[in-house]
Amino acid sequence: DFKRPGIQTFRGHLIEIDIDPLLGKQLQELSSRHSATLFMSLLTIFKILLCRYTGQTDLIIGTPVAGRDHTDLYNQVGFFVNMVALRTTVNSHDSFADLLERIKQVILNGYAHQAYPFDMLIDELALPRDMSRSPLFDVVVGMETPGLVNNQPELEELTVQKFDREHLVSRYDCTLIFKEGEKGISIAMEYNTALFRQETIGKLLEHYIRLTAAVVAAPGKPISALQMLSEQEEREQLVGYNNMEVDYEVSGTLVDLLEGQLNRSPESVALEFAGNRLSYAELHERSNRLGHCLREQYGVGRNDLVGLMTDRSDQMVTAILGIVKSGGAYVPVDPDHPASRRDYILERSGVKVIVTEEKYRSALEQKGYRCIIQSELSRYSVTSLPVINHPGDLAYVMYTSGSTGNPKGVEIEHHSVVNFLKSMQQQPGISAADRLLAVTTYSFDISVPELLLPLVSGATVIVLRREEVQDAVLLGRRIRETGATLLQCTPSMWQMLLEGGWPGNRQIKALSGGERLSKALAGRLLEKVKELWNMYGPTETTIWSACRRISRDEEAVSVGWPIGNTEIYLLNKDLQLLPGGISGDLYIGGEGLARGYRGQPQLTAEKFIAHPFRTGARLYATGDVGRRLADGSIEFLGRSDEQVKIRGYRVELAEIEHVLLKHPSISAAVVITAQAEDGTNYLVSYVVLSGLVTATELRLYVKASLPDYMVPVYFITLNELPVSSNGKVDKKRLPPPGQSQSLGLNTGYVAAATPLE
Ligand code: AMP
Repeated sequence: DFKRPGIQTFRGHLIEIDIDPLLGKQLQELSSRHSATLFMSLLTIFKILLCRYTGQTDLIIGTPVAGRDHTDLYNQVGFFVNMVALRTTVNSHDSFADLLERIKQVILNGYAHQAYPFDMLIDELALPRDMSRSPLFDVVVGMETPGLVNNQPELEELTVQKFDREHLVSRYDCTLIFKEGEKGISIAMEYNTALFRQETIGKLLEHYIRLTAAVVAAPGKPISALQMLSEQEEREQLVGYNNMEVDYEVSGTLVDLLEGQLNRSPESVALEFAGNRLSYAELHERSNRLGHCLREQYGVGRNDLVGLMTDRSDQMVTAILGIVKSGGAYVPVDPDHPASRRDYILERSGVKVIVTEEKYRSALEQKGYRCIIQSELSRYSVTSLPVINHPGDLAYVMYTSGSTGNPKGVEIEHHSVVNFLKSMQQQPGISAADRLLAVTTYSFDISVPELLLPLVSGATVIVLRREEVQDAVLLGRRIRETGATLLQCTPSMWQMLLEGGWPGNRQIKALSGGERLSKALAGRLLEKVKELWNMYGPTETTIWSACRRISRDEEAVSVGWPIGNTEIYLLNKDLQLLPGGISGDLYIGGEGLARGYRGQPQLTAEKFIAHPFRTGARLYATGDVGRRLADGSIEFLGRSDEQVKIRGYRVELAEIEHVLLKHPSISAAVVITAQAEDGTNYLVSYVVLSGLVTATELRLYVKASLPDYMVPVYFITLNELPVSSNGKVDKKRLPPPGQSQSLGLNTGYVAAATPLE
């Protein structure tokens, strides 16, 4: 429940629960059939539970031994207890019977060496010191047998009576003691209150009993198939917390949605850019021209891709509208990105034609692309085009960092965008009076709600120029001058705005998304805006898949609940549901699911898996790790892979490593993230050289293939990369960037000195 304190504490509590006598008896019989003791079975079940809860398969549990096996010691006063460490691997395809057999051997071996002093074992192992926990194991399991415990000591002339006392200590993270008495088996669990809540431990014991019943019913079943959750818990997670049956008024395509709004508010202001205003009617007329041109001159139709390469302006919006109206889907390429990356995207996606500006035209045409400039379309009709799309047609394809060395294109269909926009209209909500300030580059999918949500809601989108978006002071000023009421930024950008001295604005509904929103930043923002929302989601499930409004008194800044017609599951490696509070891999399903990765069926199959609970459906494996809080909302806990966020941008570290490794003077490379004092992430690369090269040359080399935010701040040379026993680079043993040998003229990381910088 709680973050482990830096220094172990020992405050604890204890709860007890009885095992149903019949179940206890059945387990006893099962143990006998396998020539095992009851304790061996109880411990086996607890290992199964721990494996489910932690996702770990190599488990060490301590068990106390009395240390009185010599008859002379039987009646001695004194403390002879010693600890034995029981280590077993648990595989999910094992049956209980298999695992019991292994654990039996481990216990018997442990008992055979029980006199070996635990302290000596710890010295021998020379484990690294960790003040936050006990050495070797965190969990202890023991058994009190009636013979030893229930006998009152007999002392001449003294009567001995047992007193209950309040239990206020916990020597380990938790200690599970099974007690065998006349009434059957009971379990007492002592737990550390700095780590766990009472309800959590209560649930754990319930899960333990349910697992025990499942084991007794089918000891030969693979342990992954044993039921641990109650039906109610399962129902909550499958249905209760999900949001799969929202019935919106409109289905259909994005074009229908846009045209519908045009008909409702033709005269309203749709867009503002650089002091100019366009009404809904004007905006649509301009984009209709482009739509007609694409359809008539270039034969663009359903599922055809059209490239988009333009600066931030009103034309960026008319182009997006024009492309979808033509029936095609847009593929944004950012003019700020290196030419080689743009070429890769344009070529791999297979665009038919590119909508661009005069200044980019000749370079594109030289490479053989056909180009359209919007100012040259006056001969095309301004009338609406007949809608030819189906909801399952592509609306856009966006490229995001790929771990195989190249970006990957995520294909998003109309119904996903329609569902998303409809859900956003309800929450966080938007009205025709809203003025949304668009600040995100259109090659990042969170630009879609900025540009399109106002335009399907009768509101106004205000497009800022690149310079205005990149300068915190200027941006702060524009927020005030434009009278914005809705603003969506990544946490990095909110941070930048606050560092730039933004005083806040009480009429703004602030959306934060794309990265973890820290409690500290949320607290600062709440002081300055009208409402704050945390938005969560990957590109592959259409922009945002969960959201919540953040209030002041929240313990954790969670990402909330699934948006409309969206489901989120937290699962373990065997794709099983996990209890609330337990961390697991986050999977998303529903309307937002992308068609797949463009031209990469294998990768698509790997990431969009068959739905474990509904035949025919799919789930996207996000790579995010999270857990469910008591209110069913989801807390984001991190990643299970090498994907990171740099200034809000999604980066696969392997993509940078691939680029470095292509350099003739580099024989090995690894890239990691480090954290600056202000909490922001930056990239550090470690390289092993096989030839001569300076840091400046390397930086230029990387810049030629990757966007700025993917260029490492440090290039550090090593004679070899540290390797762990499994042959992988041991990132923990890389020298910290500040103290190591940077390459050549490298200046390393220098924090921004002014808000502008
Ligand atoms: P992208 O596809 O660029 O939108 O990146 C998606 C990833 O960003 C997710 O898989 C998460 O790792 C991260 N992410 C997005 N929104 C949030 C959020 N609100 N809190 C934490 N992480 C987030």
